[in-house]
Amino acid sequence: MPALDIVLKARLEEAADKGLRRKPRAVVPLKAPLARVQGKELISFCSNDYLGLSQHPQVLEASAQALRDYGASACASRLVSGNHPLYAQIEEQLSSMKHTENACVFGSGYLANLGVISAVVDGADLILTDRLSHACMIDGAHLSGATLKRFKHHDMTHLRSLLDAHRSQYRYCLIMTETVFSMDGDRPPLNDLSKLAEQYDAWLMTDDAHGLGLFTDKNPAHIQMGTLSKAAASYGGYVCGSDELIECLFNFSRSLLFSTGLPPAVIAASVASLKLMKDQPELAQKALSNAALFCRLLDLPEAQSTIVPIILKSEELTLKVAAQLLEDGFFVSAIRPPTVPKDTSRLRFAFTALHTHQQIEKVVEGIKAHGWLEHSGD
Ligand SMILES: *Cc1c(COP(=O)(O)O)cnc(C)c1O
Repeated sequence: MPALDIVLKARLEEAADKGLRRKPRAVVPLKAPLARVQGKELISFCSNDYLGLSQHPQVLEASAQALRDYGASACASRLVSGNHPLYAQIEEQLSSMKHTENACVFGSGYLANLGVISAVVDGADLILTDRLSHACMIDGAHLSGATLKRFKHHDMTHLRSLLDAHRSQYRYCLIMTETVFSMDGDRPPLNDLSKLAEQYDAWLMTDDAHGLGLFTDKNPAHIQMGTLSKAAASYGGYVCGSDELIECLFNFSRSLLFSTGLPPAVIAASVASLKLMKDQPELAQKALSNAALFCRLLDLPEAQSTIVPIILKSEELTLKVAAQLLEDGFFVSAIRPPTVPKDTSRLRFAFTALHTHQQIEKVVEGIKAHGWLEHSGD
């Protein structure tokens, strides 16, 4: 048998041959949206801190105060060491924002998806999820043991045909989608999904990771999960829903029961961010209008959120363009499989309330100068 490291090295080389080997880059965050990469100051379009709250003085002060008051760690899981008062505060804020009876905060969005999906369905049940759903929804579905089928992106006709063909063979059915797709920036027909769910006796769940703080329209989903690590500029995941749902999570959700609670300073930062989100709706408007400006200047389809992909298809070209943009002073993520489907590698631009028009015009000039858009898939 070959040594472990030899097996692993071969796997890494195989990934490299396909242009898919990854390595985190050393990045020093400066005053957002700037960052220092390889000694060079760049304008970053990689941050999910859409409202620019992660460096906001009120968020920093709230977090520092909680650190001094309560210490650095939660010291055990929420059911073991008890529910910190900051949890009551953040869960009250979340359920009020989402118009649900109750809310529950998890260690991360990933843990929330693992925990809620596996708590509500099992091997007797069916999950139907949008084909482009985030990896942690898929992982949660696998963990639950339910049968998983994917419908074409936003395609209600396909979803209906899957429901017609399969719904009756299963006990419960869970339909899942994202409110804003993390790599495409587009949004699903939530009302149609909700109607289909009702018609076929299914439950609807949404992942609002990239929608929290940006969109406030009422969401008809029974289960609304999301994260505090994007626009809330802190860390942690959450699930909003009925009292029964939330109590079930505290009883049956293994990623909640068997993982340590969030550090108080992290929750305090989220509490402060959610308050700013509510008090300053102009931040969301600014972030969205920045994305809209970018699309207008490049003649791209209208932005539906703060996320704008430029699909270049090939891994190689995407890496080349990202490297050239880096050279020109812009930090943009090159997104490749398995994060996105094969042959849809892309640059993912994320816009925040802190980008200036001038910075956006500058990156647009950079893109236009090289003529890459001719290669784009759209
Ligand atoms: C980022 C993300 C998550 C995971 O949230 P974390 O808090 O970062 O673990 C879940 N779903 C979607 C759609 C995401 O983009």
